[in-house]
Amino acid sequence: MAKVVSCPCGEKITGETDDELVKLVQEHGKEVHQQEVSRDDALAMAQPAE
Ligand SMILES: [Zn+2]
Repeated sequence: MAKVVSCPCGEKITGETDDELVKLVQEHGKEVHQQEVSRDDALAMAQPAE
């Protein structure tokens, strides 16, 4: 099931799988916020996409 993470900066990051979502959230965190995001943190922020 696709999931979406709403970043506090307003960006919405969608992934078709947990693996894809975690990868995209980690890339976003690093590039935009200079922050390492753990897999657990990324999944904890995830919500089911419509
Ligand atoms: Zn962000």
